[in-house]
Amino acid sequence: MTTTTEAAPATRSFEADVAKLLHLMVHSVYSDKDVFLRELISNAADACEKLRYEGLSNAALLGDGGQPRITVILDPDARQLTIEDNGIGMSEDELTDALGTIARSGTKAFMDRIAGAKDAEGSHLIGQFGVGFYSAFMVADRVEVTSRRAGTEAASIWSSDGLGTYTIQPATLADAPARGTRVLLHLKEDAASYTESFTIERTIKTQSGHVPVPIFLKDTPD
Ligand code: ADP
Ligand code: MG
Repeated sequence: MTTTTEAAPATRSFEADVAKLLHLMVHSVYSDKDVFLRELISNAADACEKLRYEGLSNAALLGDGGQPRITVILDPDARQLTIEDNGIGMSEDELTDALGTIARSGTKAFMDRIAGAKDAEGSHLIGQFGVGFYSAFMVADRVEVTSRRAGTEAASIWSSDGLGTYTIQPATLADAPARGTRVLLHLKEDAASYTESFTIERTIKTQSGHVPVPIFLKDTPD
């Protein structure tokens, strides 16, 4: 699905702490997997809020990108789930920083605590420690993030199986959101129910009821 303008994508390693964290998330007994959707929707809403804020002093960023929105797209045939926003987006450097490192300290403390945490507590810890994005790997064996920062032409695709490395490469204009970020999850076999609208609607209602950006559900991809 991802067409690129360059031959080989660059492969990079996760920071050691990220690799450890991913391993822990995927292999912990921690079973409340629904939390991944809350975390990705909250990131999408944060991105819309950041754009609104930066747009106050730089109206050009807003362009004609429309009202803030989050779109969740279900594709049961391909066993894929997409969460897309038209928020601030990420440049290639921002993608590498945000999704390859853990900027803040406290990761070690997080890992110590989640290792012994019960389900409800674990879900709370993931949000509290700001490691939410990586929870996508609880349900997906590959995650592709295509992003275009507001006010820029260039878009990039970050892709990983969560096992230690990720690739990053330029995206063609046609293949990326006009502005913002698309997170495409290749769902694991046992997470196929996240392509059912019933499951997604229920999860959004219970986990993301107070998100200040409208969420649209699309049953089939374009
Ligand atoms: P947190 O949201 O607490 O910072 P996350 O692990 O959820 O931690 O996300 C890490 C970072 O990745 C965010 O701080 C943000 O910079 C970036 N990010 C994730 N998703 C998006 C998105 N949809 N749009 C823009 N930036 C994003
Ligand atoms: Mg987050």
